[in-house]
Amino acid sequence: MSVVTKFLPATSEAVDAPIVSAPLVDPFRRAITYVRVSVTDRCDMRCVYCMSEDMNFLPKRDLLSLEELDRLCAAFVSRGVRKLRITGGEPLVRRDIMWLFHALGRHLRSGALSELTLTTNGSQLARYATELADAGVRRINVSLDTLDPVKYKEITRWGDYAQTLAGIDAAQAAGLSVKINMVALKGTNEDEIVSMLQWAHGRGLDLTFIEVMPLGAIESERADQFLPLNLVEARLREQFTLRENGYRTGGPARYMQVAETGGRLGFITPLTHNFCESCNRVRVTCTGTLYMCLGQDDAADLRAPLRASPDNELLHDALDAAIARKPKGHDFIIGRDHATPAVARHMSVTGG
Ligand code: SAM
Ligand code: SF4
Repeated sequence: MSVVTKFLPATSEAVDAPIVSAPLVDPFRRAITYVRVSVTDRCDMRCVYCMSEDMNFLPKRDLLSLEELDRLCAAFVSRGVRKLRITGGEPLVRRDIMWLFHALGRHLRSGALSELTLTTNGSQLARYATELADAGVRRINVSLDTLDPVKYKEITRWGDYAQTLAGIDAAQAAGLSVKINMVALKGTNEDEIVSMLQWAHGRGLDLTFIEVMPLGAIESERADQFLPLNLVEARLREQFTLRENGYRTGGPARYMQVAETGGRLGFITPLTHNFCESCNRVRVTCTGTLYMCLGQDDAADLRAPLRASPDNELLHDALDAAIARKPKGHDFIIGRDHATPAVARHMSVTGG
């Protein structure tokens, strides 16, 4: 289908509203309303489950400019995308990234977008939290896998626990709702599940546990890291009352209310409980490659159509062709017999 969506030059708030748009719906009748945009593959940390210590990053010339990222996001918004998550690598290490947040804020003000958010390791939040709030960001995800500064260094390799904590403080002080993402790692932080829950809920933070996914080659064996969350949930139920509360954020997490703490707890379980049937998401890398599924290799290049012409006709054609190929789901398996990653690219490439 060729969509005749045309944009006037994006020079002011009013002019880049679409004249005609058609929603993005995949072959399984799933509407694509959520896009995760990776703005850089670089990071100031090297988490052991995410990257190898020695990473090759993309040359800067391959990256979409901030203006191109803005144009791409506007095109998605014109096709019915209601939620944008800026991610990476570490999104807040991209130079002038606040320009993009301020630019995207216009879609919140126009009502076209319901949420602009980000996933961050927290290292730069002390510097940017207030500006993020000014741009219209209301909720953010901060990755924190341990409350032990020594272990934090072991997991992140380059991270500084105090800096991340200061970032979380700054985010809360700026009025942002913070959700902590904790990747459950066998033998590494499994003894901290309860303390993290008490700490997060004690500070008014939501908490989500994530199963480690077999994305990209790393130094360790995935099977040594993988801690199934059904096990974590069962252990927690021995101590806490967990009630499914139907709360959704438009993402993959299944949420529960913890009666004893009054806080919200999420589980992201791509391995033990596949959630692909309700998938409403696609991901774009910082080079403009669109991945229709986190766990599959098929992708579409959006950079070429974006650069080929100043109007968006080619871009929308490319989007239509790509969404028509969105697969039913991923095929993640972690086990001793499956030593190779499900896909070769790291999470930091596709964006978490
Ligand atoms: N740098 C930011 C951060 O750490 O929050 C954003 C990008 S990071 C790739 C996004 C999320 O993906 C983080 O919560 C991180 O813990 C998670 N992640 C990275 N690699 C993963 C993997 N192999 N399996 C599961 N989660 C992973
Ligand atoms: Fe960086 Fe985030 Fe990956 Fe850690 S999880 S290495 S902070 S991109």
